[in-house]
Amino acid sequence: MEYQTYQLQKEKEFEAACQRCGNCCGALDDPCMHLVIQSQGKYFCDIYDSRGGVRKTCLGRFFECVSIRDILHRDWLGNWNCAYKKQINNAT
Ligand code: SF4
Ligand code: SF4
Repeated sequence: MEYQTYQLQKEKEFEAACQRCGNCCGALDDPCMHLVIQSQGKYFCDIYDSRGGVRKTCLGRFFECVSIRDILHRDWLGNWNCAYKKQINNAT
């Protein structure tokens, strides 16, 4: 398989694993202003393709939006529900 195709496939698998719980974007606490709730309690980011950088929460707190990979080693409210955390925990 061509490397680029492999990378795209892996990215798709990675994205598909996300439960869209919104917990990594503050859904259970003080959410990012770009976090939008959909039907059935699923969330999405309304600037997903350009999400990185300084962002603001609904209560006015500034923070840096980083890749989920960069926060997997940390704890955040509701991190128990994160599909990626579960994958890591199952692998160790
Ligand atoms: S900008 Fe970042 S923190 Fe805000 S909703 Fe999008 S992905 Fe989540
Ligand atoms: S906490 Fe994990 S499963 Fe939930 S939206 Fe964020 S990346 Fe996806």
